[in-house]
Amino acid sequence: MQLKNRKMKIICVGKNYLGHIREFDGAVPEAPIFFLKPDTALTVRNRPFFLPDFAKRFDYEVEILLRICKVGKCIQERFAHTYYDAIGLGIDFTARDVQSRCREKGEPWEICKGFDGSAVVSRFVHKSNFPDLSNLEFSLTLNGETVQHGNTADMIFNFDRIISYVSQFITLKMGDIIFTGTPAGIGAVKINDRLQGFIGNEKFLDFRVK
Ligand code: MG
Repeated sequence: MQLKNRKMKIICVGKNYLGHIREFDGAVPEAPIFFLKPDTALTVRNRPFFLPDFAKRFDYEVEILLRICKVGKCIQERFAHTYYDAIGLGIDFTARDVQSRCREKGEPWEICKGFDGSAVVSRFVHKSNFPDLSNLEFSLTLNGETVQHGNTADMIFNFDRIISYVSQFITLKMGDIIFTGTPAGIGAVKINDRLQGFIGNEKFLDFRVK
């Protein structure tokens, strides 16, 4: 019998911007750090983020997304750009108090990072629409105030390095999504907050917390 329910996966890179590392715990990684979220974490089409009740604090982390467009294993960095075709914007929602407990105990992160709805994903735009992917500005507003502002020029590990590294361990497949890390400014959300995300001046995300 064949497995029919073959879904995409969501790969998230952590600690990829110095500003965020400084507000977190200060250790700069020597190689990309990543974890996975299941496909059930997806929140799409600007649907609300429903605050779960299992934690006290849920933080936004705005991140540039890559959409994988072909199967690849052990991809060399110089070919990595051919494995993604589109760019989007996402929020890696994190149950921060639960994450702190997981970190203290050395436990896995699935409950603080992989819960239902925790991967907010925008529409995707073909990468040819962006003049310079290594200089992409992006930002997040909370109730109209800018809370995060980043530029892909500040990534510790660029898109090609991330794809090459991850694919040493995990085969990338068409439709997989990579979250490429968040800049400084993470913070908590509460019910009725409105989050809007931008790449340059173009709006990619606009949703509410419910
Ligand atoms: Mg993140």
